[in-house]
Amino acid sequence: VRALRFDGESLRLSPAAPEPAPAPGEALVRPSRVLLGPADTALVQRGAHAGFSGVVGHQFVGVVKKIELPSDAPPLLAARRSLLGKRVVASPMIACGACDLCRSGLPMHCRSRTVIGLAGRDGCAAECVALPLSSLCTVPDAVSDDEAAFAHTLSAALHAAILLRNEHSSYVTVLGDSALALLTAQALARQNKAVRVLSSTADRSRLCEKWGIKNRPLEEAGRRQDQDVVVDCTGSSSGLRLALQLVRPRGTVLLQSPLAVAPFPAGRPLPEPAGAWAAPVDLTIATVNEVRIMGSRDGPIADAVGALTDRAIDVVSLISKRFKLDDGIKAFDAAREHPSVLLDI
Ligand SMILES: [Zn+2]
Repeated sequence: VRALRFDGESLRLSPAAPEPAPAPGEALVRPSRVLLGPADTALVQRGAHAGFSGVVGHQFVGVVKKIELPSDAPPLLAARRSLLGKRVVASPMIACGACDLCRSGLPMHCRSRTVIGLAGRDGCAAECVALPLSSLCTVPDAVSDDEAAFAHTLSAALHAAILLRNEHSSYVTVLGDSALALLTAQALARQNKAVRVLSSTADRSRLCEKWGIKNRPLEEAGRRQDQDVVVDCTGSSSGLRLALQLVRPRGTVLLQSPLAVAPFPAGRPLPEPAGAWAAPVDLTIATVNEVRIMGSRDGPIADAVGALTDRAIDVVSLISKRFKLDDGIKAFDAAREHPSVLLDI
């Protein structure tokens, strides 16, 4: 099968990679779309420092081609036989199911997790990928392939909105140009929050206008410490620095994208900050103003599929370019400049 592989130095298309063999409890999935975002391009840019080699790509929609069940499969797992032939998405994070955090209901913080296409496990920019049956979520016919490819990013946006649901927040600012920033703004706007996006490109402002979301160029941000909540989706120390200048005393800063350092293998020390996070941030202002700094990651992927089914959030307007798998290397180059590049597999 064809697969887009990263060897720690460069990306190349393997025209005849061996078809992955699903282990018991896994499915073989044929992706139809793969969405490239900042985490994918950051991986390739970091090269050997990323500590990953294998098939890239962590966001996809595809069809289940084969299912491998252990002979002693428990009923819940055996019931997943019905996924054969279905269209599915998956959370890229694969939990062990056995560690203390998995057992206490926090599988997303699993101590020995892997992330497809990013940490410890082959990704989905290929004609076939093997994935645990437990990670798959079916996609209703009403949701297109293009829409479903955004499920993982959308799950993170919805999760941020849930974390901020009970926050006293009349004024919310979202920082960033990524799909995550714009989906988070849409998710917060649904909760009737007065949301404003600070972005640095004109096409982002046009999208916000289409959705009725206020927006301003990043450089015009008034640093008046008057925002109840600032959501930083820039994944950079300059974004955090700006967030701390925008948020009011006792306000909240939500950090949405640690993309320049993440994803890192669980259970190992954090790698040295790279790229956008390398510059130190003076946190004095956070202490003086008693600012709460919270982290946020992806949420349940089924919630995102539900929101796509309800047509609650516009994702397809975010697609900036599309490429065939054979042009996968060009697609990665384009993804460095343009958010939300789609690969047609
Ligand atoms: Zn675990």
